[in-house]
Amino acid sequence: MSIKKDGIMVILSSPSGAGKTTLVKLLSKNKDFNISISHTTREPRHNEVSDQDYYFVDHEKFEKLIKNEEFLEYAKVFDHLYGTTRTPVIEKLEKGQNVVFDIDWQGADLIKNKKLNYKLITFFVLPPSKKILFERLSNRDMKDKLIVEERMKEFGRDVLHWINYDYVVINDNIDKCYSKISNLIDAEINNGSKDYDKDYIRRHVEVLTS
Ligand code: 5GP
Repeated sequence: MSIKKDGIMVILSSPSGAGKTTLVKLLSKNKDFNISISHTTREPRHNEVSDQDYYFVDHEKFEKLIKNEEFLEYAKVFDHLYGTTRTPVIEKLEKGQNVVFDIDWQGADLIKNKKLNYKLITFFVLPPSKKILFERLSNRDMKDKLIVEERMKEFGRDVLHWINYDYVVINDNIDKCYSKISNLIDAEINNGSKDYDKDYIRRHVEVLTS
């Protein structure tokens, strides 16, 4: 008789622009994680694909999903609504497939507090410095300086939530950062030893917020 093995949930959060989307894609490609596709009321960016990067919906549709209790979690982020619908996630976990979420600290808190019967590992991704974050955000939203300024301000507030995550990783090099995450996931699954220095992270956060 085979023992049914549920999938695991991995949450990646970060202040905007820390490179988390690339890390999520690498987890999907290399470790066979299903990416949870969120619903959002914000407009698509020029490089985004509908129903692949997000389900882009209007307010009315989003409110309807809230009313029908379809969300596992949802939150308001930068004046827009973002949410994860429950059914696709649970279906995958039940089939033994792993799911990775690219959601903010509010969503991470909400999922954590649900205490679902699936293993959950949470990561907070930080940029190496405020200067590099500013450069990354400027390259992405070059046309809109206001968005960059707004997200830099938000960064100072977001970063304070690092303490609620299982692990915090610094994205100074995408391959190194990915392999850190991958090793920590493997160690969590196999109860192996973890290469993780929380004091180092604490000092890094102090520099970022000074
Ligand atoms: P962006 O607009 O840059 O794609 O995302 C803005 C923020 O919303 C990011 O921090 C992203 O992780 C977060 N986000 C995306 N989808 C969801 C979701 O379904 N729920 C929550 N709580 N946050 C989300």
